[in-house]
Amino acid sequence: MESIALKYRPKVFDDLVGQDTISKTLSNSIKSGKIYHSYLFYGPRGCGKTSTARILAKALNCHSPVKQDPCNKCISCKEISAGNSIDVVEIDAASYTQVQNIRDVIIDNVNLSPSRDKYRIYILDEVHMLSNNAFNALLKTIEEPPDHAVFILATTEINKVPLTIISRCQTFRFKPIPDRIMLKRLEEICDKENIKYEGRALELIVNFSGGAMRDSLSILEKIASFSQNRITPANVSEILGYPPSEIIDNLSSALLSKNISEIHSIFNKINDEGIDPVLVLKELRNYFSRCFLAKNGLEELKNIPDLNPFIFVKLSRKINRIIEEIKYSDNLSLMAETFLYTVIDTTVDLDAIIKRIDSINSKDVNEENNFQGQLKKTSDKAEPNTRDDSFKGLWNKLLTSILKDSFPLYNVLLSSDISLDNDKIIINANNEFESSIVLKNLPLIEKNLSNNSSKKYAIEIGIKKKIKNEVLKNTDVVEKNDDLSSFKLRDLRDFDETFPEYNKIKKIFGSDIVKFTREK
Ligand SMILES: [Zn+2]
Repeated sequence: MESIALKYRPKVFDDLVGQDTISKTLSNSIKSGKIYHSYLFYGPRGCGKTSTARILAKALNCHSPVKQDPCNKCISCKEISAGNSIDVVEIDAASYTQVQNIRDVIIDNVNLSPSRDKYRIYILDEVHMLSNNAFNALLKTIEEPPDHAVFILATTEINKVPLTIISRCQTFRFKPIPDRIMLKRLEEICDKENIKYEGRALELIVNFSGGAMRDSLSILEKIASFSQNRITPANVSEILGYPPSEIIDNLSSALLSKNISEIHSIFNKINDEGIDPVLVLKELRNYFSRCFLAKNGLEELKNIPDLNPFIFVKLSRKINRIIEEIKYSDNLSLMAETFLYTVIDTTVDLDAIIKRIDSINSKDVNEENNFQGQLKKTSDKAEPNTRDDSFKGLWNKLLTSILKDSFPLYNVLLSSDISLDNDKIIINANNEFESSIVLKNLPLIEKNLSNNSSKKYAIEIGIKKKIKNEVLKNTDVVEKNDDLSSFKLRDLRDFDETFPEYNKIKKIFGSDIVKFTREK
C-alpha cells in the first residue's frame, strides 16, 4: 500500500499547504513565461521546499501542462516524481560537498542540451553544506547559465550560503506551517483514509511536528498502523513518548505548591514509563504560557491557578531556559528534574506578599515584636547563623566548590538553615526530601570541609521547623535586625550578594535583585 506521506505529497501548486504566497508567485511566473535561471528556497525543514522544487521542475518540463500546473501523467512528470528523470538532477549537497563533485555533476554537463525535455534542471538540497570552493565553482555557472539550465537551491540554513550566491537567485522564504492549517490537513486526510481520531490527539501530533507537514504525516501513519486506525491521545503519547495531560497537570500543581517530593515522584513515573523529559518540560512551558494568555482573555483554558499572570510568564521563560540548558546533557531526566527545582521560587506571588506585608504593618507593636522574635530563630538563611566570621568564610568557600560538584546539593544548602554549635555544624533543610539529599552527599560536604579547614567538624542534619509568619516586613529587613547596622552606612547602589540580607530579600521576591532605590 502506498504510504500516506507519499500519497498526499503535494502534486500541483495549489496543494502546497501553508505556502500560499510562494505557490501563487511561482505559478504566476510560469503563466507569464517568466522563468528564472536560479531559485533559492530557504526555511525550516519539512515545510515544503523539496516538494515545491519538484512541482516547479515538473511544471517547467511537463509535456502537457494543465494551465500552469504539471499534468503529473506524462513521462517527464512521472520520472520527476520517481526521482529518475534524465533532465532533472537532484543532488543532496551534504554528500557532494567537494568542488570536484560539483564539477563532475554540474559544471561539465550544464552546457549540454537537455536530452528530451525543455530544461536541464538541477535541484540542490541542503546547499549550505557545499565547501567554499564548490560554491565558487557553482557561482560562475549561476552567473552565466546557458538558456536551458535552471537551478533550484534549497537550504535550512540561509546564513551559511554566500551572499554572492543569494544575490543571484530568486529567493523564497518558506515559513513553518501554522498549527491550525496542519490540523485541518490532518483531519482531511484522516477522513479520506477512514481513520478515526480525537481532535486532541491530532493536536499532539501537530505540536510534536513543529510546523513540519512531512513529519506530521509520517507520525500519523505510524500511529494509525499501530492502533488499527484509531488515533487517541493515549496512543499518540505511547508512540511519541509524549507526556499524558495528567502528568502536566500534576507537575504544574506540585511546582506551584512547591511540593518537592511530589515533583520527585512524578519524575520517577516519567522515567518508569519512558516519557521524554524534554517533552515534559516543553508541555509544562506551553501550559504556563497558555495560562498567561487565558488570564488575559486571549485563550480558553479551564482551572487556571489563581496567581498574578506575570508569574506564568516568568515560569514559562525559566523553563524554556532549562530546555536550552539541558539540551546536550547526558542525563536529561535528572537534569530536567533538578533544574526544575530552581524555578520553585518563581511561584512566589508578589500580590499576596504585598497583601501580607500590609496586614503585618497594621498589627500592633507587641505582635510585631513577637514576629521579630520568631524571625530570628527560624528565618531562612543562606549565611550560617553564627558570629564566627572564620566559619562563615569557610562555609562560603565550601558552597563555591560544591556548586561545581553538585548543583542540587548546592541549591539545597543555600535554602537550608546553617548554624554552628561549638564544633558541630547543624544543617536544617526545608523538608525530608532535601535533608535526604544532604545526607546522601555527606561525604562530599566532609571532603570539602577538610580541604578548606584543619579543624574537625561534626555534622548534624535536620529539618527546619515550620514558620508561621514567613513573610518579612520590609522595615524588618533594613532597620530592626541587628546584623544590619552597616546597612545605613552603605550606598544602596552597592547592594549585592555580599550584603548580609541579600539572600533573604531575594527569597521574598523570588528573583534576582537588579536595582535598589532608597525611599526618602
Ligand atoms: Zn506532465
